[in-house]
Order: sequence, then C-alpha cells, then structure tokens
Amino acid sequence: MGQTLTEKILDDHLVEGELETGEEIGIEIDQVLTQDTTGTMVWLQFEAMGLDEVQTEIAAQYCDHQTYQFDFKNTDDHRFLRSAAGTYGAHFSRPGNGICHNVHKENFAAPGKTMLGSDSHTPTPGGLGELAIGAGGIDVTVAMGGAPYYIEMPEVVNVRLEGELPEWATAKDVILEMLRRLSVKGGVGKVLEYTGPGAETLSVPERTTITNMGTELGATSSIFPTDEKTRDYLARQGREDDFVEVGPDEDAEYADEIVVDLSDLEPLIAEPSMPDNVVPVREVEGVEVSQVMIGSCTNGGYEDILPAAKMVEGREINKKTEMIVAPGSKQASEMLARDGWVAEMMAAGVNFSEATCGACIGIGHVPASDSVSLRTFNRNFEGRSGIDDDSVYLCSPEVAAAAALKGEIIDPRDLADELGDLEDPGFELPDEYDGSKADLIAPDEAVDDELVKGPNIKDVPLKDELDAELSGENLLKMEDNITTDHITPANADALMYRSNIPEYAKFTLTRIDETFPERAEAADGGVLVAGENYGQGSSREHAAMCPMYLGIDAVFAQSFARIHKANLFNFGIVPFIIDEDTYAKIDQGDELTVVDDIRGGVESGEEEFTVSVNGDWEFTATLDASERERDMLAVGGKLPWTKQRAQDG
Ligand code: SF4
Repeated sequence: MGQTLTEKILDDHLVEGELETGEEIGIEIDQVLTQDTTGTMVWLQFEAMGLDEVQTEIAAQYCDHQTYQFDFKNTDDHRFLRSAAGTYGAHFSRPGNGICHNVHKENFAAPGKTMLGSDSHTPTPGGLGELAIGAGGIDVTVAMGGAPYYIEMPEVVNVRLEGELPEWATAKDVILEMLRRLSVKGGVGKVLEYTGPGAETLSVPERTTITNMGTELGATSSIFPTDEKTRDYLARQGREDDFVEVGPDEDAEYADEIVVDLSDLEPLIAEPSMPDNVVPVREVEGVEVSQVMIGSCTNGGYEDILPAAKMVEGREINKKTEMIVAPGSKQASEMLARDGWVAEMMAAGVNFSEATCGACIGIGHVPASDSVSLRTFNRNFEGRSGIDDDSVYLCSPEVAAAAALKGEIIDPRDLADELGDLEDPGFELPDEYDGSKADLIAPDEAVDDELVKGPNIKDVPLKDELDAELSGENLLKMEDNITTDHITPANADALMYRSNIPEYAKFTLTRIDETFPERAEAADGGVLVAGENYGQGSSREHAAMCPMYLGIDAVFAQSFARIHKANLFNFGIVPFIIDEDTYAKIDQGDELTVVDDIRGGVESGEEEFTVSVNGDWEFTATLDASERERDMLAVGGKLPWTKQRAQDG
C-alpha cells in the first residue's frame, strides 16, 4: 500500500513506534521555531535542564508578538532571547523583523523536513511541503536538546482541490470554506493533505494561507506536496537548493477525502466571534465598518498586501473607516516600500504599521467600543482584539480593502460593479524577494555568549510529584470552547509578565472570573471543570503553567484541544475526560475527590477513575494518556521527567 506524504515524512523521521493511527510515535525534529511570548520559558527550561547547545539543524528565535516597548520588561525579554540564541546556537530575529511564520517561510522552511514550534500556527510551512507541528514550549526545548518529539499518529485526510479560483475568490476563501464545512473542531487529530489539480494552481504564499489557518480547524498540521511552484518560490527567495520533490504515492490510502471545487468559491467572511462562523460576504453586506486591518501570519505577505494596495491606489479610504496595514515581515514592508506601494497606500489614507503580531493579540489598534473591525487575520475569538465586546470579522485582503473603500462590508464583485473601473488585482509573486537580512542574526554572527536576565525574568516554577490522593474544590465551571486567551490573557498588561509566572498567574482566568486567582490561592489549589474543546487557540504553555502555579491539580473537561492537553501533561495537571451528563451535574464549589490511589492508577495504566462529589454521588472520569504521559504526570511534568531520564542515561 502506498504512503501519504505525511506518512513518508514521519517514516523518514521515526525513532519510536509504528505509524498506526492513534499510536504514540517519537519523531526526530529538524527545525524548531519559537517566538517571544513562549520563547523566554523555552530558554529558561533549556537552562534548567542543563542543556548546552541546540541540536536541531535549525533553531530560530523570533521577536514578534510583543514588540512595543512600554517599559523595560519587553526589552529585557528580547535582550534575554538574543543572549539565549547566541549562547545556545539559534538564529535570532530582531523585534520588528516580522512574524515568526512569515520570516521562517522566507528563510528556513524546507520540503520534507519536520519542524516543531512553540506557536499554534507553526504548520504554516506545510505550504512548502514541510511537516510542521505546533507544540508547547517545553516540547520545543526538549526537541532542541536533540530528543524525539512524541505525538499520537494522526489520521491523514486528503483534501482534494479541483478547478481554479474564479475572480475575486482567494486562498483565504478556500480555508474559510473548510471552516464553514468542518467547524473549529473538524481537523482535530488529523493532518490535512491538500492534493489534486486545484492545489497545483495555487502559489506557495496562497498554500501557506491555507496551511496556516488549518490550525483554526484544530488540525495537527496541513501540508501540500511540492512541485514546480514550490521550486519557483524557493528560487525567488534565493533558496532553490532547499527544493526537493515530495508527495504522496499514487496509491496512497487516506482516512477520509474532502473535495473542494475552487471554481465554486466566492468571497467569504467569518462573522464574530469564531473563525467557523463563515458566510458569503453578500449575506452581510451593508454592515458599517470602522476599522480594517490587513496583515498577520495568514495574510501579511508582500503578495497578500499587493492586491489591497492596487485596489486603493488612486482612491481614498472611506472617511468613516480606518485602514491599517501591518505586513507580516520586514521583507514585505521593505519590498512594498521600494516598489512605491507604501506611498500609494499612504496617499489613499492607509496607516502603515510595524511588522508584528501586535493587533492580532490585542496589542495596539484595539477597535473602538461597539464597532466592527474587519481583519485578514486567522482568529476572531471574543476579546482577542483587546476589547471584551469586540465584533471582528475575518476575510481576504480583497474583501478588507473593498470594505475600507465603501465604509461597509461589500462583496468586491459588487464594489467593482458600483465603481465601474475596479478590477480583480489578481495574485502575483515578485520576480525576486530582495529584502535585507540585517535583522536576522545567524548563530555564527552571535553577539552574546552568556544569558542576560533582567529583574522581570524569574525561574521556571516546578510542580511536586503526584500524590496518592487528589482532592480539591471545583474552583471554576466553564463552558465549551474556552481558549488559551481566556486562561492566560495575551493583552499587553498581562503579557509583559510572560517570563515571570508568579505575576502572570495573577491574570489566570480573570476574563471569566476576576476573583479566580485570589480564590485559587486562598484555597491552596483545586480543580477546574469545562465543556468541550477546552484550551483551544494558542500553544501558550502559560495556560497550563499559571494554573499549575496556582495549585490546580486536574481539569475535568468533555474534551481538550490537542496542544493544551499536551501542555497539561507537561506541567503535571491531570486532564480528565467527563461525559456531558456529568458535566451538567457538577457545580462550581463542589469538592471532587478521586476515590482510589491516583498515583498508583496513573502509573499502572488505569483509564477510568471513580470520582466522588461532596461524598454524595460519584462519576467516572477517563484518563487518555500514553505511558510516557503517565510517567510525566507521576513525577510532576516534563521538566523533571526529562532531567530524570538524562540522569538515568
Ligand atoms: Fe502572531 Fe496572530 Fe499569527 Fe499568532 S496568529 S503568530 S499572534 S499574527
């Protein structure tokens, strides 16, 4: 039987296990990526484990999420990250050089390689045939130290693209259509492999828009085979030597097949406040728009911004609407500036911003209260833009530019009819990507050889080993789809403490209940209860680390998002699965006690645990964990487990 592309790459990198769906496998990692929000913990853990040199082919540290320097804390973090990259042998991308996924795509992503990144949109380079997976920071730390990465063998699903995109439909509409059909849970446990004649019509940047936003489907990764379009893109980036041909066997067998006919697509838009609330733009025409933002790791490339620039060239942005362009990388900004497009956009009334994540996580350009913001980003979770009752729509740059011109949501085809002289700008690659590399410091150009820590950088907290007894008050009962943004907010006030867990922990779950951190501290710990898809969103391990710091021993949820579940194991918190009826019956304030010896049960492979509620009634909680995950839970998480393994040789 032939292999899928995913199986081929995994087979090439397999160090433990068998490629059987659902089985845990260990794979060798070629490249790692980390960013500033998660990176400080990655390197503090690297130090705490006593590791001394990066072992992967490429390790890259980016400074992208929080590049604005309100006070010394972010600057100190960036200085620490540069010193860690220099000391241990990683590439360092300076603040302002761009978003990790964009800069990585431009400089390092390579077909056939494996990559692990401490950011949930790590799968972006799947558009170049790289198998890239988002993980918690400590997973990246360990992989960077040369150890395998363990993951359940995902299902591989074939997404067969037919036909060709019609006018005004874009790659963003392909992934929005996938979200419309499958929902934010539709990709869980799966790698989506895009094939078919439609895939061949898409350029690499269009493919990476699709693979980037596979994360919103909950997919482990998304990937395209390589072809002449991949070679061509790498050649334009001056990296043709990185090209290799990779693809599935002709007789590859997939777990499932989804067919999308590109020629049926039209401009789509995700309504607030979930990326899968997707409808045709024509259904929501007329909604007044006060802000339009083009950028992010999904649509922040030179090629993404160019169509919007062409649409606004020689026109004026509607007086009711503010339009901001924040390119995904300095390469994109520099090239748009050299080609005169920055001036054209500015003349039309566009504000041009630094190449950073910023607004995507509510740092800068926060929308006005009770207003609509249209963004080309990948996420519109409630409150993520920096204001609790936001109203953020997600769309292509073309739809965003059309709204900026009209002042309200309008299908660009209808705007073209209205204006008479507006044409589909198409999607074009530059002859050559010729941005400077001044902001990328290679390991052999490092300017530091020891760690530099400012006063806001604190040691990594550790959890005690698992006791025989697990009992605690249910400190918070939460609904479905709780995001990592709910658990540990990423706004500027909170994020400045990303390297200081005792301070960051004071923000834990405050978006749901302001009293939570105080109550958790007063109770000296407890447990949490949630509905489906707990921990969706980012790979932020702070969302496990802060609850751990506050003494949370277990989360009882109907289901967990993949990366967050791994992070809970990594920080010694037991992720128990409960059914819908049990969820409905448990109240906040209930005392939950695992009836038998939990440590013994975890170590002996027990899957079902009886839990007593206030001594009044009982339910069964399931622990779905590999042997390795059970070992980690027993000793208090991945850091002590890795150290112990190293000591045992
Ligand atoms: Fe940055 Fe937003 Fe992309 Fe995350 S999703 S890497 S915050 S641009």
